Amino acid sequence: MKLTSASLLLVALAVAACDSKTATTGEAATSSATVEAATIDPAAAETSGTKATAADEANATPAPDPSTIPAAKATDAAAILARPQVPILCYHQIRDWTARDSKNAKDYITPIATFKGHIKMLADSGYHTISPDQLYAYMTTGAKLPSKPIMLTFDDTDLDQFTIARPELDKYGYKAMYFVMTVSLGRPHYMTKAMVKQLSDEGNVIGSHTWDHHNVKKYQGKDWETQIDKPTKTLEEITGKKIVYFAYPFGLWNPQAFPELKKRGFVAAFSLAEKRDQNDPLFTIRRIIASGYWSPKTLRNNIVQSF
Ligand SMILES: [Zn+2]
Repeated sequence: MKLTSASLLLVALAVAACDSKTATTGEAATSSATVEAATIDPAAAETSGTKATAADEANATPAPDPSTIPAAKATDAAAILARPQVPILCYHQIRDWTARDSKNAKDYITPIATFKGHIKMLADSGYHTISPDQLYAYMTTGAKLPSKPIMLTFDDTDLDQFTIARPELDKYGYKAMYFVMTVSLGRPHYMTKAMVKQLSDEGNVIGSHTWDHHNVKKYQGKDWETQIDKPTKTLEEITGKKIVYFAYPFGLWNPQAFPELKKRGFVAAFSLAEKRDQNDPLFTIRRIIASGYWSPKTLRNNIVQSF
């Protein structure tokens, strides 16, 4: 049994918070058709190869440093909202279910064979993983992306993201984004600082997911320092890179959080499946939880329907 009591609590909280969010939103339903049209590339559709080709990589615009993009472009909400959404998947634990896992927890626990099936389906379908910098450049400037772009994200620092997910993604040349909760670093069943550094060094991107998963909507006083400032500094020390992406614990946000995150140097923040904020879509980028119950086919259908 891998779950500690602390992580059980987190799973329970996450389930309580996210249960109501699995339904496809109105926004998602209306935009899926345009995404399909924009992302299906006839050449890619026929390719069952797994790695991005040199030609694909040449087509993709190199990701610019987000800080060099003019603020006027970055804040043009209407232009951002008009662009098709890039599918973004959110995973938590990658391990086989045990008798103690609750029905709801299994949405957040992806059995190993299921996970491998998900990633193989993405590769067989011609998806190319993109970095958050590529996503940011696309959203703010319309920068070109590889065909069938997708982002893979892993929340909460679980050890199996390093031991199970990482080698599986490597098979396909895939990179991912890891949203780290710094309280967990080095604890049993969680990643160590050295693992987080290795992921970063290998071309994955590390983002902040607070100190101990407190709901951003409830921060007051010193909470911003404890939950955001200190963990960001920790992650920057570990990776030697600036941390500019954030994921809301439980996917929960309010507009009051945006200026707080911006003044701390964040350029974008990720939520879950609910509708984006119409004034600040960069701080409410949508993701779907790739449920542990989903077959590869179900995952593929949900990607198409939700984005
Ligand atoms: Zn989380």
